[in-house]
Amino acid sequence: MSEMEKFRAEVRAFLEAHCPPSQRQPIIREEQIWAGKKTQFPSEDARQWFEAMRDKGWTAPEWPTEYGGGGLTPEQARILQKEMARMNCRPPLYDMGLWMLGPALLAYGNDAQKATHIPRIVRGEARWAQGYSEPSAGSDLASLKTRADDHGDYFVVNGTKIWTTRADVADWIFCLVRTDPEATKQQGISFLLIDMESEGVSTAPIQLISGESEFCQTFFDNVKVPKDNLVGELNEGWAVAKELLKHERKLMGTMESITEKVDVGLVELAREHLAFDENNKLSDRELRQGIARHLMNDEAMASLNERMFHEFKAGKSDPRLPMLVKHLGTSELQRKDELILRILGNQGLSWESDRTSPNIHRMVRNWAYNKAHTIAGGTSEIQLNIIAKRALGLPDQ
Ligand SMILES: Cc1cc2nc3c(=O)[nH]c(=O)nc-3n(C[C@H](O)[C@H](O)[C@H](O)COP(=O)(O)OP(=O)(O)OC[C@H]3O[C@@H](n4cnc5c(N)ncnc54)[C@H](O)[C@@H]3O)c2cc1C
Repeated sequence: MSEMEKFRAEVRAFLEAHCPPSQRQPIIREEQIWAGKKTQFPSEDARQWFEAMRDKGWTAPEWPTEYGGGGLTPEQARILQKEMARMNCRPPLYDMGLWMLGPALLAYGNDAQKATHIPRIVRGEARWAQGYSEPSAGSDLASLKTRADDHGDYFVVNGTKIWTTRADVADWIFCLVRTDPEATKQQGISFLLIDMESEGVSTAPIQLISGESEFCQTFFDNVKVPKDNLVGELNEGWAVAKELLKHERKLMGTMESITEKVDVGLVELAREHLAFDENNKLSDRELRQGIARHLMNDEAMASLNERMFHEFKAGKSDPRLPMLVKHLGTSELQRKDELILRILGNQGLSWESDRTSPNIHRMVRNWAYNKAHTIAGGTSEIQLNIIAKRALGLPDQ
């Protein structure tokens, strides 16, 4: 048995022993386990599953063991990921620290910052929010105005961040701030970690059309932030910001793996709701082609991911490929949602009703919710601009 086969057998045994059957179901939004002081477990099974993964360091499988991570090689981490997918295991932990800040901190943080924050992220002890966007700095992020003025041992931060997802329940927020107002755009920006309990930090909910309030606006009013919380060099936060965005976009491109999933394939769903002809073919030809196109694109995405993994392992990564992943992954997910709605027909109008099943409501709500993915983490238009310029080498207009 090869080393990797041995590892796979170990992983299987571990998952069999520690992942209760209730945690081998498609995840639903209300049962996601978010990090932080206010973590709530929907059930004892969920707590047990989270704790087993946390103690093994497999909430962050590839992070160094000295910080509590799993210390796995990329190949081992991939085996773990595939085995979890095969057994339908739920993600054990949700947090922006895990997905975005951690990798950036491992690359740019100093020893003290890593020792303080990384283990807490692995253990789900602190929930992080992202403070990038501002009311007049979204796509043009580098025009941000929140400022951090140097006061000796600390900065004083003033300004506001918008669309800060669940900052109201976060323990910490990572922020881009302007530390040199004279410098041109990207040059005068720094990357700061701010404790949400600091005096002068407040949040105001933003109501969404769905009635939910996932976003906040976060305000900083003379907030004192110790200089120890500066990540990377002063005025060079843009490099940290870009490293973090790389991870955010990779995550967004594979969003379906962590968001609520509808446990049904398109073909099965079509069989349930639509007519098939005597040759066992879906009668609606256009829809049939749409489903076939989606299934092929899905396969192509899986192959692209596989290719990127093997190139990475061989130390021959093509830097252009990750630029494509967010745009391709998010637009394909939206195409799938449109197909689902077409299959559901009139039932796809159902948002909440006793007459349709909760599974249908979930599909319809996902259709609305997944529209956000081509905006968050950089809009598709901006992604296409980046691909045109950096991947294809096209000139500026
Ligand atoms: C679900 C969700 C969660 C989010 N969470 C967070 C968070 O936690 N923290 C955070 O900081 N931000 C968050 N955001 C904000 C997100 O990063 C911004 O919405 C995004 O960067 C776009 O900025 P904007 O909304 O200001 O749109 P704008 O930049 O005003 O863009 C408006 C439209 O103009 C287009 N456009 C702009 N410039 C160009 C150009 N040069 N070429 C072509 N088209 C252009 C855009 O593509 C878009 O269609 C979140 C957004 C969403 C939807």
